[in-house]
Amino acid sequence: MYIVYGKKLEKILIVKGRMNMFRNKEKYHVYITNNTLRGMILEVGRHPNNESIIQMPGIRIGNNFYFDMLADSGIHATYTPTMCEKDHEYTDHLSTRIAENYDFSKGKMTVSQVHRHLDNCLKFSAGDYPANSKLAKRYGGVVNGLMFVDPEFRVKFWYIDEDGREIEADYEVNDKMVAEAMPLVDIERLMSAVEKNEAERHSTKGKEDIKEDSNVNIDFEKVKEELMPYKVLIPAEYRDESYEGTLMGYYIPETKTYNIIRSSANGIMRDGMVRLGAACSADHALRKRENTDFSEVYIIWYDDEPVVFIGSEKKVNVDIEYYSEIKDIFSRNKGIVAMDTIRKKQAVIAGMGSGGFKIGIELVRAGIGSLIVADDDIVSYHNVCRHECGIHDVGRYKVDCFKEKAADINPNCVVYTYRELIQHVDPELLKENIWKDSVIISCADNRHCGYICNKISDTYNIPMIDAGCGPRASTGEVFYYKPDSGMACYTCTYGEDKGIDYSNQAVRRQFYATEKELEKVNFQPGMYLDIELVAIFTAKLAIDLLMETDENYEMKILPYISQCTILLNYPIDKDVNPYMQIFGDEPSIKPLIWKSVSAKKNPKCDYCGNT
Ligand SMILES: [Zn+2]
Ligand SMILES: [Zn+2]
Repeated sequence: MYIVYGKKLEKILIVKGRMNMFRNKEKYHVYITNNTLRGMILEVGRHPNNESIIQMPGIRIGNNFYFDMLADSGIHATYTPTMCEKDHEYTDHLSTRIAENYDFSKGKMTVSQVHRHLDNCLKFSAGDYPANSKLAKRYGGVVNGLMFVDPEFRVKFWYIDEDGREIEADYEVNDKMVAEAMPLVDIERLMSAVEKNEAERHSTKGKEDIKEDSNVNIDFEKVKEELMPYKVLIPAEYRDESYEGTLMGYYIPETKTYNIIRSSANGIMRDGMVRLGAACSADHALRKRENTDFSEVYIIWYDDEPVVFIGSEKKVNVDIEYYSEIKDIFSRNKGIVAMDTIRKKQAVIAGMGSGGFKIGIELVRAGIGSLIVADDDIVSYHNVCRHECGIHDVGRYKVDCFKEKAADINPNCVVYTYRELIQHVDPELLKENIWKDSVIISCADNRHCGYICNKISDTYNIPMIDAGCGPRASTGEVFYYKPDSGMACYTCTYGEDKGIDYSNQAVRRQFYATEKELEKVNFQPGMYLDIELVAIFTAKLAIDLLMETDENYEMKILPYISQCTILLNYPIDKDVNPYMQIFGDEPSIKPLIWKSVSAKKNPKCDYCGNT
């Protein structure tokens, strides 16, 4: 009767089904956990275009069947549409091991087998009958199922009685009901151990008995760690779009935190970033095969909230937290700098040495929308103690390191990098990338850069700042200029451009220098913490210049200074640093003070005199 194939078989099966309906009006229900459903999805995903089979130990209470875990049919199993042979010994062994974890005292242990049928075969086949009835005989009736991918994943269950008759059973995914029907043995053990320990603390007698109880030998530190919930930080954008694909980011084991980073957050730090898992929507769980790989974190988007699976955890305790790159990263700047305003601002930084790099990073932290950075220098070992970059950056272009660090703070900040000096950047490219609301900051190790930046400032009608340090960073010098404001230009203030001139070392401002240059001029660049003070002053001034027109913004530096400001980090000999004269003698000279002096516009200035 069951060796008939194709349509004839369908008819026979339908007749058989009807007979069952008349004979038996009993209803059978199957309850499975999300974990089980995931196992099924993963199993069919592993063997596309083939049959596949899983076995589940569970509990039967009356006509209700509950399943929490499933056993794969093993590495020796073969799957072809006509032959679905599982590795019985291995699967039975796995099922037994799984079953040991549960308390089946509320009912009777049962086993279910679920396999996949390919398209158009929506019922058990003739070949399934012997296996189904054999299992049913062994357990006094079982529920077996079929999985379909047509193209969406679904499952169907049938109750099979000892004679091999099939009655369709409904099923639902319900973690809570399964947990109640077949509680985990481990948790019971843990609870009894805790109770016994409590009892021990409160009573003096009976200590001996408790010590003999093997259940008390539990590593409480480990249990505590196991009970600590996982934290999964998910970009809000992923939730909004029900993102499907690989999940990249960081896992911090000591806090059990998965920090998922948006894949389109370009240029972000790649150090230590790993594949954390995958995400897909419930509807499309199997449409993309690459998403069905088993991985550490597995997010399935349902309508209201996602279901998150972690590793092989049975009961997953997960705190899901969504974060927004814009709102959350800058939430603490709120009320100080209007985020919507500063996001539309830009800074051009010429020179990515100690000062320029630091200024740039501070502007990123303030929420600036874009930066253009230009420098041809490469991070070397002697830079490390005076730079935001570290040993792992040695050998890389400073501008590349900057882009990465900036993205680590604000992935939405647009950073344009040029591995060359500002004067060598193609003016057409600069024109393309420069924003209307920008500021240019000259941070190179020579005055020549200041003249270049002054020109760019006038060309694009953006303010400019020139910043640098004196010998050993004992002083800092910050100059600013606004086009069409009647202010003295860089040439008015510092005289004619002498090119990249290292001769006048005493007043030459310098944030950093290469070793070769240091030898040449015997220049001492100073400690980073002294350089930082000047960089912070400059960054604040840059924000003031960018936000000046925002009426809600309170300025921090600009109203208090003139065009030239000398910052004194610490007093040194006047012969080493002539700027010391500005601050007078003891006792008026003190560390961490500054003086601002106005620059005078020269009507005969070579640069601005004609206008
Ligand atoms: Zn089959
Ligand atoms: Zn001038």
